[in-house]
Parts: sequence; structure tokens; C-alpha cells
Amino acid sequence: MSFFEGYRCGNCEREVPEGSLAGECPSCSGPLLGRYDLAMLRGSVTREEFLSAGAGIWRFRELLPPFRREISLGEGSTPMIDARRLAGKTGMKRLFIKDESANPTGSFKARGMAAAVTRAVDLGIRRAWMPSAGNAGLALSAYAASCGLAARIYVPESTPPGVAEECRAYGAEVVVCPGVLPDAAARMRSDMTGGGEVDLGTFREPCRVEGKKTIAFEIEDQLGGDSPDWIIFPTGGGTGIVAIWKAYREMEELGWLRGKRPGMIAVQSAGCAPVVRAIESGAAEIETWRNPETIAAGIRVPGSRAGRQILEGLRDTGGTAVAVADGDIISAAGMMAASSGVFPSPEGAAALAGLISLLGSGRVDPSDRVVLVNTAGWSRYRFMLDPFKGGPSVCR
Ligand SMILES: [Zn+2]
Repeated sequence: MSFFEGYRCGNCEREVPEGSLAGECPSCSGPLLGRYDLAMLRGSVTREEFLSAGAGIWRFRELLPPFRREISLGEGSTPMIDARRLAGKTGMKRLFIKDESANPTGSFKARGMAAAVTRAVDLGIRRAWMPSAGNAGLALSAYAASCGLAARIYVPESTPPGVAEECRAYGAEVVVCPGVLPDAAARMRSDMTGGGEVDLGTFREPCRVEGKKTIAFEIEDQLGGDSPDWIIFPTGGGTGIVAIWKAYREMEELGWLRGKRPGMIAVQSAGCAPVVRAIESGAAEIETWRNPETIAAGIRVPGSRAGRQILEGLRDTGGTAVAVADGDIISAAGMMAASSGVFPSPEGAAALAGLISLLGSGRVDPSDRVVLVNTAGWSRYRFMLDPFKGGPSVCR
């Protein structure tokens, strides 16, 4: 039984029916967001039934669009780590790490891409293209390989070494482009011939948000309904912020939350902080950041196609956005690794650096319940291991 009612533009509210090939609003190019008959769902499924059955993202199918075949590589059901030593190091009473590095291809992108590739196959799409800073391209390549979809990934030349090779190993075509992510996206659009290629890029495809909502459902489940005060998420294109905010709104409307919705906190690098700038200036839109520079490739994203929704998600939950220096990201990576056993990606480390900054400013209290989302593991960034070389060894 499906409760899905189609998509609606987050900007102009234009409706797009299920089964449409449109990946963005046909009127204003705004992001399409899935709609559900929540009143009917509330009368049909209990919170406990929704959260209890099965594993992976498709266990939450009542709040996902329906498909003939649900494609999966085992994404979702990632660990929620009660990081007691790390909590002690930061002065927090409790601190949780939602470790998304346990997903297929090692990042949180698997959730959205499983759903997006499932929709693409359902719609009869044969060729999926995407610009990517790394993790999303890897996820698309792997899911495309699993079902015979032809994938092409446009990556900026600054993408971590190894990404292009691994995408090719999955059978994807890779086009390496000069510049940053928007330059790769522009090159992709100029290469499109209208020959059936479909853009699965961020907020060009509605199921990436829907699939990513499942992080929030798992957080609710794993913390036993004791919702965190804050969810701290490293933020590039902003799908994660929009998806978690949307999931919590749906759960709230369903009467499934026991407390209040968590505050959403976006963390960016000081060298690329368009969301932070918009929050601090009170802007209604996110203005593109010029010359983005940071070691954290996943958040080297100078703008977003869903600026209004990201800012609304942060403001609506009493959240905020904070920028951290690259040096603090490296320090936080080492701190998390040595104090929790989770060696985070630079983006995941940025979430910890953001928490430390917000504890310092008093915005987050040491007694608050905080979930840090580690979006990927460090291994993808092993070429940056220099900061962790040296020091004592057992064998000399
Ligand atoms: Zn629109």
C-alpha cells in the first residue's frame, strides 16, 4: 500500500505527478519534494510498525515513493555510536556519531542514489549522468552497475585521487573537468544531446532527497524516540539538511515524535561557506561563493539549487550554520579517530569541529544531546594522510 501522492515544487508549489520524467520543477527549476497522504498513513501504520520492521532504506517504504523493483546494495542501517570517550574530550555528557561510512561505496550518498537509480529504472531511463565531487559519483556508478544503467560522471580535477578510477571500475564513463563542481556541471550540460541522458545531480532528481530521509528515521529508531537536541551535518549541496528536516516534519505531522524536532546545524569550511554567510546575514537565498577552497572536497560546493529550503530547514528548527578552518578539520579528524575509533572523512571531521566551535560560543550546551553525521570514512582521502604520519611506533 502506497501513501505517495506525487511531487511538489519547493519554490512555486507546482505539482508534478508520479511517473513524470521531470527531475526538477518544469516552471521554475525548483527542487521537487515528495508528498504523502500523512492522514491516511497515520490511520494505517503505527510509529512502532514503521520503525521496527526489516533493515535498509526500503524498510521505510511507507514514506518513500513506490517502485516495481527496489534496488539495493545494502545501504542504510548504519551504526549509531555512543562515543563516550569523544564526549569526554569535548566536554559533552553524551555524543553520538551516525557513521554513514558503513554504506555501500563508503558514504551517505548511497541512500539517495539507491532511491534515485530505482526511480530511473522504473521510468525506463537508460543513461544517467551527474556532476560530482566524488562520493555521489561513486554511488551512482555502483548502483548503475547493479542494474545495467549507463552512468557518466563529470568530476572536477580537484576530486580526490582514486575516485575516477573506482567509478571506471564500476563501468561508468568519467569526464575530468578543469575548475570546480559547477564547471563540471556546465560541461555536462553542454555535452547533453537530448539523446535520453538524464541528470541525477543534486536537486535535479527528487528521490535523492527521499532516500536520504531514511537517516532521520534511523536516528529516531536508534535513539529510542529520544530525539537529539541537535543534528550536525557537513553541508555542500544541502540534500542532507533538506532531507532530514523533511523527514522530521513528516514524523511530527504523523504524531510520531515524543519531543520537539532536533535543531539542524550545517557545517561548512571557512573557505566555502555560502550557507553560513546567508544565515549570518539573514538572507532569503544562498549566494554563490567565489573561489571555493577547502581540503574537504564533499563540501567544496559554492552554492545550492535548494537555498530557500536549506535556510528554512535551519531556521525552522532553531538551528544554525557554522564555518570551520581546514586546520580545525584535520585536528578534529585525528581527535575523532583517536577518541572514538571512527576515522571520519574531512566532512565528518568538520561536523566535530563545528560542534567544538558551537560549544565554545555557548550555542550548544554540554548537556545537549548531539548527533554528528559522519558522511564518509577517511580512506577515500588517504592521500592526505600526512597530518597523521610520524609519532611513536611499537617496532623501531
Ligand atoms: Zn517551481
